[in-house]
Amino acid sequence: NKKIQMKTPLVEMDGDEMTRIIWHAIKEILLNPYIDLKTEYYDLGLKNRDETNDRITIDAALATKKHGVAVKCATITPNAQRVQEYHLKQMWKSSNATIRSILDGTVFRTPIIVNSIRPFVKPWTKPISIARHAYGDLYKSVEMRVPGAGKAELVFTAENGEVSKETIFDFKGPGVLMGMHNIDQSIVSFARSCFNFALDQKMDLWFATKDTISKTYDHRFKDIFQEIFEHEYQEKFTAAKIDYFYTLIDDVVARVMRSEGGIVWACKNYDGDVMSDMVASAFGSLAMMTSVLVSPDGYFEYEAAHGTVTRHYYQYLAGKETSTNSMATLFAWTGALKKRGELDGIHELVDFGHKLEKAAIKTIEEGVMTKDLAQLSESPDKKVVQTKDFLKEIDTRFSALG
Ligand code: NAD
Repeated sequence: NKKIQMKTPLVEMDGDEMTRIIWHAIKEILLNPYIDLKTEYYDLGLKNRDETNDRITIDAALATKKHGVAVKCATITPNAQRVQEYHLKQMWKSSNATIRSILDGTVFRTPIIVNSIRPFVKPWTKPISIARHAYGDLYKSVEMRVPGAGKAELVFTAENGEVSKETIFDFKGPGVLMGMHNIDQSIVSFARSCFNFALDQKMDLWFATKDTISKTYDHRFKDIFQEIFEHEYQEKFTAAKIDYFYTLIDDVVARVMRSEGGIVWACKNYDGDVMSDMVASAFGSLAMMTSVLVSPDGYFEYEAAHGTVTRHYYQYLAGKETSTNSMATLFAWTGALKKRGELDGIHELVDFGHKLEKAAIKTIEEGVMTKDLAQLSESPDKKVVQTKDFLKEIDTRFSALG
């Protein structure tokens, strides 16, 4: 059998711990036998990040700008304990944060749906993709404890010295105070990433704020989305037969709960923080959530939403069997390969990605799964398998699909 040929390399970002083990097993069992895999390899494992003073992360992000599509393994974000464990030169920043700041992208998280694991919210039969604006608001706010009576003011001094003032509150006694901001450029990028992703997935885009109460701040978000939609995306949405829908945050929550899913839900920073965990847990498991970073310029970086599964890695190092779920990492690969195939006009590559996803879902629906899913699945006869055996079971079904 002839292997599928690629034109442009995928930017391959290797990672840490159990996901690094899974990474290589996926390539060995499910990719290399079928594809003449062309990748530009960047080792983002913590050891190499430390050795290169984290230059490797920057290089990987720049390569993504050059080639357009990347696939990333989960990586350790070092804390004090990791600095000791790996004898690090310093506490390096999160690779995801570094990559995101270079690509200026938005992260979309989407659950993988299998029919034996029913979402806790009954009507949800299709995935809901959550996009979280990852800049500003509460997360870059300045706070103050007000000790007693006094006047709080919002003061803006323009570059030319012009001052605008607004009274926040005349305190009669102690309280608290907060100032937050956002910038047009970041909201514009967020909006473009959301419109691009909705078009890519051919799903409706929903966006909500609280503009009835926040008549300037949240209203700016609403206006920017509307302007960008009308100027740049309306025609493309019509052609793709999808809609952009804006409403209030409380209304959107009520609508999402009653919907069947199949939507991209764009959230402001705090809303996205809260809602992405709600959606993930309602769909069952972090191990079944995929994640893609979409830049406003149309670059894509695919990964699993979960971390490096440290506990399983220590078991693996101790020579014990592990049953780690590789679905989200596998779907990062299929997502990237499909996108690469689409951009380069290689239909076999797109078909390969679809077929491998189908085989993986079929495996779980036939009752063969890792331990984490066994507790959630309603399959009558469940067979819990080890990490690598799960991939081999997928391969068997993949081959059978012909
Ligand atoms: P984690 O996602 O690795 O694990 C959280 C919990 O979910 C654990 O109980 C784990 O056993 C379970 N779990 C997650 N994925 C699973 C899978 N595929 N199969 C079976 N069980 C799974 O998160 P954590 O424990 O908070 O962090 C571990 C490391 O991962 C940390 O060093 C952290 O910095 C890193 N991390 C990286 C990313 C990323 O690269 N995107 C994201 C989150 C955490």
